[in-house]
Formats: sequence, C-alpha cells, structure tokens
Amino acid sequence: MTLAYLSLGANIGDPEAQLVSAVRRLASGPGTRLVAVSGLYRTAPQGLTDQPDFLNCAACVETELDPYGLLALTQSIESALGRVRTVRWGPRTIDIDILLHGDARLDDPRLTLPHPRMHERAFVLAPLLEVWRTEEEPAWIGRGWLQARLTGLSDQPVVRVRDSASLLKQVQGVE
Ligand code: ATP
Ligand code: CA
Ligand code: CA
Repeated sequence: MTLAYLSLGANIGDPEAQLVSAVRRLASGPGTRLVAVSGLYRTAPQGLTDQPDFLNCAACVETELDPYGLLALTQSIESALGRVRTVRWGPRTIDIDILLHGDARLDDPRLTLPHPRMHERAFVLAPLLEVWRTEEEPAWIGRGWLQARLTGLSDQPVVRVRDSASLLKQVQGVE
C-alpha cells in the first residue's frame, strides 16, 4: 500500500458537486481508499485568466495501484464526470492531478512525479498541507518545505470556503 496525494479542481458546471463526486469515486477505488480530504478553496484562475474562478481541494489516498494505474483511475473519473480535453489550463468540469505517489520519481510527459508545478501553486499547497501525513512523509519532502513554499506564494490569494469535516461528510453521504 502506498500513500498518494491528489489535487482536484473544477470551474465549470457545478464545481462543488463535481469535486464531491470525484472524491467519492476515488474513495471507492478500485484499489484506493480515502485517507483524508481537505476543505474547499476558491482561487482565481492562473495562466488563462479570462475564465471563472476555480474550486480546489486535495485528497490523500492509500492505494495498491502503481502510479500509471492511479493515473488511469483519475483519468477515467475525469471522463465519467464529463471532462472534455480542450486547451491546457482552460476551463474544465474536473481536473485531477497526481502530486505524489509514495517515493516515486518519474520523468515522463504522460506522468511526471512529483507533479512538476505543485510547489508554484498556492491552490495546490494550501489544501495539500491540510491532508499531509507528517508521520509518513517521503524522506526528501516534508511539511516544513511545503509550508515555506506556500508562505513564499502570498501573492496568490486562496480562500477556504468550506472545511474538511463538512466536505468529508458529504463525500461519505452523511449529509
Ligand atoms: P498542469 O499539469 O500544469 O496542472 P493541466 O492539469 O491543465 O496542467 P492536463 O491537460 O490536465 O493539464 O493534462 C495534460 C497531461 O499531463 C495529461 O494527459 C497527463 O498524461 C499528463 N501528466 C503528467 N504528469 C501528471 C501528473 N502528475 N498528474 C496528472 N497528469 C499528469
Ligand atoms: Ca492541473
Ligand atoms: Ca491535469
């Protein structure tokens, strides 16, 4: 079993419902179990700025899938939720990026690990820190480093609009 961290985002359709549905699908696998989900964050788009704001969250999962198996699962969830691949960084119903898969390091355009842009993005780091398992962190990356990177990105405003406990309840269908 390996711990993997995922970053999720959506900015068209019903972003909140799509994020909940995506996390629910990650929680039910196959081959994955949800360890933690962050709260929801609202963030202004970067890159292509003429599009609606994003809602973002992060999830930690325990998985028996290898990195490419997890990518296949996340891409099948994106398709099931109606993602159509158009322009990179453009609007989307759902985006699921793999940030880390245990200690895996991959230099493949199809799957680069750790995600090469994670440390440049406050909307990735803020929710990631909420689900980070300090006791099982990889030898070469730690909470302190993630926190320092986030502090350096204070020009990127991220606003938490919902806490993790209420999101988890909705994912579990309790609420
Ligand atoms: P960014 O990666 O900068 O966040 P994006 O999420 O908008 O951009 P996509 O269009 O969703 O980019 O994905 C482009 C390709 O990136 C995918 O087809 C996928 O194979 C590849 N990819 C490479 N590394 C990863 C990763 N760590 N997680 C998810 N996809 C990845
Ligand atoms: Ca992305
Ligand atoms: Ca992506």
